[in-house]
Amino acid sequence: MNLESISEEIKNCKKCELFKKRNNTVPGKGNPKAKIMFIGEAPGKNEDLQGIPFIGRAGDILSELLEEINLKREDIFITNIVKCRPPNNRDPTPEEIKTCAPFLEKQIQVIKPKVIITLGRFAMNYILKKYNLPEKSITQAHGEHYQVNTLENNLLIMPMYHPAATIYNPSKINDLKTDFKKLQKLIK
Ligand code: URA
Repeated sequence: MNLESISEEIKNCKKCELFKKRNNTVPGKGNPKAKIMFIGEAPGKNEDLQGIPFIGRAGDILSELLEEINLKREDIFITNIVKCRPPNNRDPTPEEIKTCAPFLEKQIQVIKPKVIITLGRFAMNYILKKYNLPEKSITQAHGEHYQVNTLENNLLIMPMYHPAATIYNPSKINDLKTDFKKLQKLIK
């Protein structure tokens, strides 16, 4: 199993309704040996058109945040919990998340990141549950970090707000900047 074979599987997936309206699947992009993995929610319009994660407005914000702490997209791996665009950017359903999550699981297995940053509550809820961490609201959990030691890996997990949240609530950009600074210190 490698990232290409997982992407191919995603491309052929028809396990939920989202395949019907997609233009492209959006498996994820970045360094296959990345130490840091960012997990967002689901592709939006631009991502669906190009098959690349975080290239719309939220992606621009993410790029700026990364730049501020000297991280390049080539250094990291970016993906989403759901690999196809939900129509009109609605929230992914619990069923869609459950159906799609095995792809994310495989990507985590292959990449073996040292750090997982979740962007937004859907990725946060999934990852906190996966690693038996206490459920929290994103208001409480953003910027906190959790050390998880699995048999295979020592992993640091940090939930953050979704960059798109800053579009509707500009005050959140400061929270995101603060959390990125925390990340910068942790990976030094
Ligand atoms: N929002 C996400 O959660 N993921 C993307 O890829 C783009 C926007």
